[in-house]
Amino acid sequence: MMRDLKIPAQRHPEKARRQDNPQPKKPDWIRVKAPSGKGYETTRDIMRDNGLVTVCEEAGCPNVGECWSQGHATMMIMGEVCTRACTFCNIATGKPPEDLDAFEPGRVAHAVEKLGLNHVVITSVDRDDITDGGADHFAQTIRAVRHRSPDTTIEILTPDFIKCDPSVLETVVEARPDVFNHNLETVPGLYPEVRPGARYFHSLRLLQRVKELDPMMFTKSGIMVGLGEDRQSVMQVMEDMRAADIDFLTIGQYLQPTPKHHAVDRFVHPDEFAAYEKAAYGKGFLMVSATPLTRSSYHAGDDFARMRSARQAKMA
Ligand code: SF4
Repeated sequence: MMRDLKIPAQRHPEKARRQDNPQPKKPDWIRVKAPSGKGYETTRDIMRDNGLVTVCEEAGCPNVGECWSQGHATMMIMGEVCTRACTFCNIATGKPPEDLDAFEPGRVAHAVEKLGLNHVVITSVDRDDITDGGADHFAQTIRAVRHRSPDTTIEILTPDFIKCDPSVLETVVEARPDVFNHNLETVPGLYPEVRPGARYFHSLRLLQRVKELDPMMFTKSGIMVGLGEDRQSVMQVMEDMRAADIDFLTIGQYLQPTPKHHAVDRFVHPDEFAAYEKAAYGKGFLMVSATPLTRSSYHAGDDFARMRSARQAKMA
């Protein structure tokens, strides 16, 4: 029987029997406008016409109205079903029904060209069912975009490739994305309950290794707050990221997609985000985005330009 991914119990079968976590009312500072308008519709139509999946829709991102009205959508390659079961994430989980689509890199490149993007963010589901975790598919997508839109800067947000031979990372780095992003998502103490299929130090090492393979490649990572972490653990994550030479840090508020997902522990006040931003710059990050609505790809193009200028200024 075909799964209907719009039905929560079929979208997240592993979460169906969990007890409900009540979803607290959002504070004023994270209210967003409903998506609408011409720009939003144009972006939506280009995604549909090219048969592309976006993390904006699949993850239920609150910024979709703002981003899509400016033509900024984050494409999610390798299908819409993820082989992990992170407790914060709204992407459908389970065994992916299909193999990788060899035409997808071309369709992504076509959409990027049609949208006329200066900067594109490409992410994916985890594909632990594939030997290289989709590393070659990422590389092909980067090359296809580069070929059709040579002036577009490319940011990738990858899985951790934890079950693969370590050499698959080289396949992705050799395709030369401008920014290599992999999110740590939370503090190490919360991994067993938030990101059970992943390992904190593996993810950190992955980013460090990217920098070793190509010292000029920008690296980026992010965490969510409001999952139950304390300030000291967040500061330690910043230290760990700097030790791995990560350039760009994002911190955003965790929002609970459904009652079956990880509970929101609290809504972090904008002043606390401002304090995190200040602390992070003090630790040497080239670029920091820390606001309640920050997501990895939120304002990614503008932030990339600022990060590049910050590096040039530092080198000068
Ligand atoms: S912040 Fe990222 S995921 Fe959210 S709508 Fe914007 S581009 Fe999409």
